[in-house]
Amino acid sequence: MTKLLIIGGGAGGPTAAARARRLDENAEIIIFERGEHVSYAHCGLPYFIGGVITDRNLMTVSTPDKFRQRYNIEVRTRSVVKAIDSKKKEIEITDLVTDKSYYEQYDKLLLSPGADPVRPPLPGIDGENIYVLRNLTDADVILSNISGRKPERAVVVGGGFIGLEIAENLKKREIDTIIVEKLDKVLPPLDPEMAEVIQRSLKSNGIKLILSTGVVGFANDKGSTIVKLEDGQELSCDIVMLSIGVKPNVQLARIAGIEIGEKGGIKVDQYMQTSEADVYAVGDAVETTSKITGEQLLVPLAGIANRQARLAVDNMYGRQTAYRGTLGTAIINCFDITAAVTGANEYTLKRLLIPYEKCYLHPNDHANYYPNSIQMIVKLLFSPDGGRIFGAQIVGKNGVDKRIDIFATAIEADMSVEDLTHLELSYSPQYGTAKDAINMSGYVASNMLRGDAPTIYWDELENSEYENDLLLDVRTKEEAFIDMVNNAQLIPVDELRNNLDKLPENVPINIFCASGIRSYIASRILNQKGYKTRNISGGIRMRRYFKTIKR
Ligand code: FAD
Repeated sequence: MTKLLIIGGGAGGPTAAARARRLDENAEIIIFERGEHVSYAHCGLPYFIGGVITDRNLMTVSTPDKFRQRYNIEVRTRSVVKAIDSKKKEIEITDLVTDKSYYEQYDKLLLSPGADPVRPPLPGIDGENIYVLRNLTDADVILSNISGRKPERAVVVGGGFIGLEIAENLKKREIDTIIVEKLDKVLPPLDPEMAEVIQRSLKSNGIKLILSTGVVGFANDKGSTIVKLEDGQELSCDIVMLSIGVKPNVQLARIAGIEIGEKGGIKVDQYMQTSEADVYAVGDAVETTSKITGEQLLVPLAGIANRQARLAVDNMYGRQTAYRGTLGTAIINCFDITAAVTGANEYTLKRLLIPYEKCYLHPNDHANYYPNSIQMIVKLLFSPDGGRIFGAQIVGKNGVDKRIDIFATAIEADMSVEDLTHLELSYSPQYGTAKDAINMSGYVASNMLRGDAPTIYWDELENSEYENDLLLDVRTKEEAFIDMVNNAQLIPVDELRNNLDKLPENVPINIFCASGIRSYIASRILNQKGYKTRNISGGIRMRRYFKTIKR
């Protein structure tokens, strides 16, 4: 009979335990969790704080009793694992209720200790009303503060996924909220022009954003908390939420001599095995390899933890299954906008000097003749040779989740941008278009690779090498009147064939319309007449999101 011990009762630990039971009815399985709860819904915590989820019972996906009943798995909460002796195959546990320590032996050990919120040693950080949100106990404390003290002003430190979710939910509680972010944009996995869409939405929903400024300390002033910023600003508020990222919880592993990787996570092989025999590790605590770039990554996401947990146990039981690498597929809804990402972003490709192409497009979520149809912005990154999909980012209102998951699936299946054009996707007017956003992305990218659509970008046009080119606007006169671009010559696409004499020969022509479709048509007309053209990707709609453009 196998004895499996599991450290951590969040996402990975319980999944591993349940999988082990399904594979081995006779195993002895014990989960050790230092906190009060197991298998709770981390990802719902911001919405519990915002009052979107009102029933606290829904926050615990399972309980120790349910684990015993259904799976015959023992869960020991308030039990912290203090040491691992991988030679003796033994762990030391302290029962936090009795403060007594004891030992348990294992045949197999799984570490899923997660990651702890970063709390930098800034002056005043341990003051009152400064919180992190990692577990249900944190949420209970924050909620009791909100209902007891009725804070009116909040500062959220950190503009990542969790920071934005918290900010939105504090706003739902009618708390005036400021986000302070050290980087020059929110949501690090998104490229700046895509993040800008979310930034505008945050502002229009009443959230103040302070970017490119770090927090240097905190102070108390007659019951208010003062948040001190690098640039000298001081923000007075009633509650501070720290969400400046998480750090893999590797202390236990490190002391036990388990190898730690270059990014500071537990090092595992593709079977989730650590450097010690019969010791596996999964989830936020481990580092994995990017499926796109081959770099080591720390990606704290629940889906990854769950998948790794299942396959770690499969490997313990000889069902060899390799983890195939991380894409970092993530999604967030913030007010009325959804942003999603998969694979590598442009910043990463540039940093690693990986040659890439990119395109922007604005497909509708469903047929534009059916009510409430709305455009999303898609950014697709792919290789210049062969069109391997490197990554995608989407920002929009509806249908973003479906499309990002198709991109993630396409990457997993090693599909090219050309393959996207062949996908047969469901369509009725409520759900999509006969040329779905995914097919369209494939068409645009394939056109570029075939040389049918030489492409340029608004920010690139700022370079002096293009200053003598002609900028051609092929929108209608009415559209151009509303949103004029300096120095652009206007010839609506439908009048282009009759006005070729107005265009200079031997001067490159950079063409734009609203979204990139009419400019592509115009560029095909001109191209075949011998003009050198470039299509400005994403059209005028993309221009406002490039902050670097001089206007
Ligand atoms: P965890 O689930 O954190 O579990 C680790 C557990 O180990 C903890 O309960 C900890 O108390 C326990 N532990 C640690 N050390 C010891 C020890 N020595 N002894 C005993 N117990 C120990 N991910 C998404 O994909 N989508 C989302 O929308 C999303 N939203 C999130 C929102 C919030 C507010 C938070 C905090 C996280 C969110 N995440 C989201 C991330 C997701 O929750 C984590 O990626 C996932 O829980 C990781 O699982 P894990 O098992 O590695 O760690």
